[in-house]
Amino acid sequence: MPVWGAASWIRGGVAQGARGESVWWVAVAGFVEGLVERLRVLRERRRAVILAHNYTLPEVQDVADFVGDSLEMAIRAAETDAEVIVVAGVRFMAEVAKLLNPDRVVLHPEPAAGCPLADYATRRAIEWFRSRYPGAPLLVYVNSTLEAKALGDYLVTSASAVEAARRLAGEGHEVIGLAPDRNLADWVGESLGGAAEVVAVPPEGHCPVHEYLVSEYYVRRAREEHPGARVLVHPEAPRAARRLADYVGSTSQMLRYIGRTDPRGEYVLATEEGLAYRARRLYPEARVYPVSGRTVCIDMKKITLDKIVASLEHLRPRVELPPETAKRARETVVRGLELVGKLPKTLA
Ligand code: SF4
Repeated sequence: MPVWGAASWIRGGVAQGARGESVWWVAVAGFVEGLVERLRVLRERRRAVILAHNYTLPEVQDVADFVGDSLEMAIRAAETDAEVIVVAGVRFMAEVAKLLNPDRVVLHPEPAAGCPLADYATRRAIEWFRSRYPGAPLLVYVNSTLEAKALGDYLVTSASAVEAARRLAGEGHEVIGLAPDRNLADWVGESLGGAAEVVAVPPEGHCPVHEYLVSEYYVRRAREEHPGARVLVHPEAPRAARRLADYVGSTSQMLRYIGRTDPRGEYVLATEEGLAYRARRLYPEARVYPVSGRTVCIDMKKITLDKIVASLEHLRPRVELPPETAKRARETVVRGLELVGKLPKTLA
């Protein structure tokens, strides 16, 4: 475990206070090493796999078997033959893993790690869309409630939303709904260039991290601080911030952009700050900066090493889903993956 990884695990006061005291540092580093060793033993004993999102803490990314975006995590969850799946991410990610693996144990180490954006996807909002635009297809962003997935037509992620909408527009649909992120809906609509109208369901859904901390203000400031850097902006950010981007894409698309553009280049990643750690691991020669140090999703950071260890030790908290809702939500996930040609053989 890198020392600064251990440092970031001990957030706030302890780490600050300990910085000048080598005895404390030895104790802290030893504690983290102990957790990593317990995790190694437990993972083997439980035949477990740990899937982590790009926004999780560095030390969580370091111990994960796989780190990626929501779509990649869902595909890995469908493909794994592990007996236990630990989802280091927010609740909807653990739900998707369980949907795709109804007979396996899926653990979500911190059930309080939710997603404020996902909660905008209510039954009421979807019923409004269905009555206002009868027959129009509804794309449901993976960042959504289980119920919204059960009520939607196709699951999308920020990596697949444009492609999915393009295919539906190609089939002749003039209106396409997208729940629940208004900025993603706006970006998909822009990307279609008028081929179809994309309606945000509900009109006010947004991620507070991207809406307020990846705003035009922070992107402008980052451009001033790093004038030579390419600026990559996530589609959950508002249009004014996206306008300042050299590239707009999901977290996995941003990482691939660095790889194909210049792995030694300079980049500002205008999304949750955890992605900068992932990018530096993949491209150690690149200079990568988060758009600001404040761009933190506190829900993602609730997944800590000690909680992962405890969940594997006790095989709790397990994700359990209402069977009928889960079945319909699974169909939406499968249709969404199929629509963009990403359906794993295990789900076909
Ligand atoms: S960054 Fe935003 S969309 Fe992602 S989990 Fe956090 S609150 Fe939800």
